[in-house]
Amino acid sequence: MSFEDHELDPQIVAGLRDMGYEDLLDVQVACLEPLRQGKDVSVRSKTGSGKTAAFGIPLLERLDTEIDGPTVLVLAPTRELAAQIGHELEAIGKYREIKVVSAYGGAPINAQIKALGQGAHVVVGTPGRLLDLVRRKKLHLDRIHAAVLDEADEMLSMGFFEDVTSLLDGCIKCEQVVILSASLNEDTQHLVDRYTTDVETIDLSVDKLSVDEVDHVYYKIGDELPKHHYLLHVMAAEKPASAIVFVNTRSDARLVTTQLAREGYNAEMISGQLPQTERERVMAAIRDGKLKVLVATDLAARGIDISNLSHVINFSLPEDPAIYLHRTGRTGRVGRRGTAISLVSGSRVRTLGLLEREFEIKFAQREFPTTDEMVQMRNDDLLAELVKEAENAIYDGFLAQASAVLARPDARQLVAYLLKRRANQVHDEQRSKANRPKPPRDTGRKGGRRDGFKGSNKGRRRGASKKKGSGRR
Ligand code: AMP
Repeated sequence: MSFEDHELDPQIVAGLRDMGYEDLLDVQVACLEPLRQGKDVSVRSKTGSGKTAAFGIPLLERLDTEIDGPTVLVLAPTRELAAQIGHELEAIGKYREIKVVSAYGGAPINAQIKALGQGAHVVVGTPGRLLDLVRRKKLHLDRIHAAVLDEADEMLSMGFFEDVTSLLDGCIKCEQVVILSASLNEDTQHLVDRYTTDVETIDLSVDKLSVDEVDHVYYKIGDELPKHHYLLHVMAAEKPASAIVFVNTRSDARLVTTQLAREGYNAEMISGQLPQTERERVMAAIRDGKLKVLVATDLAARGIDISNLSHVINFSLPEDPAIYLHRTGRTGRVGRRGTAISLVSGSRVRTLGLLEREFEIKFAQREFPTTDEMVQMRNDDLLAELVKEAENAIYDGFLAQASAVLARPDARQLVAYLLKRRANQVHDEQRSKANRPKPPRDTGRKGGRRDGFKGSNKGRRRGASKKKGSGRR
């Protein structure tokens, strides 16, 4: 169904068209009417399914721009996600001239205070920073009509329970609450129970979504070679246009990044402890296609939205099967098919069976290329690269000499020799490049907060009162 069929506000449609959207996605259709009617909604949907616009379209359609001060509040677990949501809402609300301010830690608070001072209809941010702004009396929650908790499960697992509830409790006129979460565990359910009334639950089975759009593949590895060699073989065989390689430990992240770089892959690692500016640079590089391979642990990859990756590679399978879905959800987003590849040792093949049963995934096994095939592929790549380079080079002065070489009886040997020299040269260049930049050092702050959600909120659960406006609906 087109935008017109849903009778969307024409100014919102104009914003959506500018963004290149032509239709509503499933989650957007499902959320539209309940949110338009002002209902509380709990959505089970993964990142990458279009959930920002799912709440963004109806909430921005209904937003009254005449009201002075923010009326919509969006909470997200990480600064990257908050920034992305901010950009998307701004684009959706462009023609309604809706002012969106994003506020998250790791960026200067003064600029955020200034932006809030200039007026905001919507405020998007991470709980800690938003609370800080409230306490400094720079952000006023008393006109908030609608509050959105995005990736609520992640927010809670990062220890933001106290901050989230403080913020929601401060929204004394809030009439509508939207809670989005990939999983509905006991903790998220508690938030739903506490802050929603007559909630409409939309369950767009997360698991199905990622499973259907992704080809799940595994390569069985032995212990004859160091593990990173197997990864290099997979890279050679699959030739991913862009990939995220998931590892279980930071030391593996370093090792894998170094080995990939040494083989000439444009690879960088992202760590949860990288300074914000560095994270943003790496993220922008992979999004713009300047960086081909991102190496990350699950913690480091939290909340990052890279929707155009062709491959997700599990250097190691995660311990928790649910994490397999989180990881592989980074490919195959919104109509693009992706490939998820896992390196699996004999003892972990069992885990695949578990995943197949639990999430109805069908794994296909692929074989590593033989040594001869690897050599052939490398030669093909070398030649393709040479042809590409030649297209843009000027070498007319050598054409006569080339004819002379080709007229010789040993022409084949000479060309072979030139190709060998070229291969050595490429190899040397890769080595020296890989030895130059070290994988980024871990500096700065620790990742998410883990300040005892489990212990601290239990006492509040029972007695917690709904703080929502009495005159709702
Ligand atoms: P989200 O789940 O909000 O992170 O969205 C995932 C991706 O889908 C983002 O890159 C959006 O720009 C894109 N997207 C969202 N809605 C639509 C739509 N209606 N048509 C095409 N792409 C969309």
